[in-house]
Amino acid sequence: MWRDWVVQPPQFVRWLFPHSFWRSADHKRKRVFITFDDGPVPEQTPWVLDTLDHYGAKATFFCVGDNVRKHHDIFEEIVRRGHAVGNHTFNHLPLFKAGWRTYAANVELCDAAEGGKARLFRAPHGHMTPWHAWRLTRSGGFDRIVFWDVMPKDYDNRLSGEKVLENVRRHVRPGSVIVFHDSIKAGERMRHALVGTLEMLKDEGYSFESIGDEAFRLR
Ligand SMILES: [Zn+2]
Repeated sequence: MWRDWVVQPPQFVRWLFPHSFWRSADHKRKRVFITFDDGPVPEQTPWVLDTLDHYGAKATFFCVGDNVRKHHDIFEEIVRRGHAVGNHTFNHLPLFKAGWRTYAANVELCDAAEGGKARLFRAPHGHMTPWHAWRLTRSGGFDRIVFWDVMPKDYDNRLSGEKVLENVRRHVRPGSVIVFHDSIKAGERMRHALVGTLEMLKDEGYSFESIGDEAFRLR
């Protein structure tokens, strides 16, 4: 049961974070917001960028600041190709273990690594409270905290790529925010599920957009 909640969080959890982004409120338009967490890394991110280009897809990358520092050329390439970028802390910190002061400083470090380009934030491990979300958007300067509508769990090494794709197929709907990981760990599982998702949704007439102001307008 809980595992299904991770794949598609229930409405009452979303109500706890009213100013955060889970899914576009425009449920008529066939479009999805594909997102990538934990990169950029040379083993995955350039492949992801080429694959997205092949399908004419735009996405949103929630980067880990330390990876941005190490692979700054790839980060710049993400931006150059017209995708949105977000902050995912500098060291992928879990809020409930790190505590707020350490966490806030780590968010700042990531912001500096990204040159202040990120207006969106996603919490590592989904650790977030309504109060922290409020702080990050009010005084942290982020436009939105971004959660997800579909988390197909490409990071779970007990799953096959086909099973990850099946998680997308079962839960995706107009306006969905989908989470993949451009990480070494997600490896072939992510690649299989990403290509499958792009093929499947393209055939159904979906477009693939990055998260920007327009996505929030109907909220
Ligand atoms: Zn992450």
